[in-house]
Amino acid sequence: MRSMIAICLSFIWVQAFDYALVPKKVAEDVYCFFGAPEEISKENGGNMVNTCFVHTNEGFVVIDSGPTYAYASQAYEQMQKIAKLPVIYVIITHDHDDHWQGNSFYKSKGALLIGPRTYEQNVVAGMKTRMQRVLGKELYGQTKIVTLDSVVDNNLSITVGHQVFQIKQLTPIAHTKGDLVIYIPEKKVLFAGDLVFNDRLTSLRDGSILGSLEGLKKIDAYHAKVIVGGHGYKTDANATQALKSYLTTMKKEVIDAQEQDIGMEEITKKVVMPAFKRMKLYDVLHKRNVLDAYKELEMLEDEE
Ligand SMILES: [Zn+2]
Repeated sequence: MRSMIAICLSFIWVQAFDYALVPKKVAEDVYCFFGAPEEISKENGGNMVNTCFVHTNEGFVVIDSGPTYAYASQAYEQMQKIAKLPVIYVIITHDHDDHWQGNSFYKSKGALLIGPRTYEQNVVAGMKTRMQRVLGKELYGQTKIVTLDSVVDNNLSITVGHQVFQIKQLTPIAHTKGDLVIYIPEKKVLFAGDLVFNDRLTSLRDGSILGSLEGLKKIDAYHAKVIVGGHGYKTDANATQALKSYLTTMKKEVIDAQEQDIGMEEITKKVVMPAFKRMKLYDVLHKRNVLDAYKELEMLEDEE
């Protein structure tokens, strides 16, 4: 009896977090897993991010590998139900750790990892990630930090199974200092990473309000039919609108306040933007975003 209990307990122990991933088709041969518009928590296992995969006749191309090794292995199981094909490439949109911690799983399957220069600079072996801190040892499981096989500085085009993928950094800084978008011209599908948020607020902590607006403008210039952001469920041609409207309003209100000589101490009380209060994570991120925008726009004013 005691050994039975021991076996049961050890079985429970090795069971990884069940992400219950269900791929959603966003275009022909293009699927995404949509994470919840929330912060990272033990309850969601870090599944607050969108990842996608494209099925070609040679194999899969994955866009962002998600929050953990277990997440990536469960995503892979879902791909294998669609076709018994290998993952050829994994393209990482930027270096924030909700987007790439499935890398070690895909590398173990022989996939080649492509990402921005900032990944190479900021993701280093032995570092403790935010994901690791919040999830704890058990949920973080087999997740490991691995290096990229190829770095994209400006742009790169790859062809897999006759499908062309154009990878490009649109601006020197937007959500981070290294944001890649991936465009499939034949399908008019664009993977925007965290240059596009829906259903929740973005964070400007590593980015720029002006760079983000510039990035959104450049995304709209693709005239894509499908735009998938790093967070949120909206994937139509207008998927850039929510964030554009948030940042445009913030830029205007912060500049107006600066012209009225409102200081840093008062700015978060002044730029409340009530229309955006219904957005998820408003309470967590809005004030910080206003302060970041204030500092950036103030510097701009000083230069003039
Ligand atoms: Zn993100």
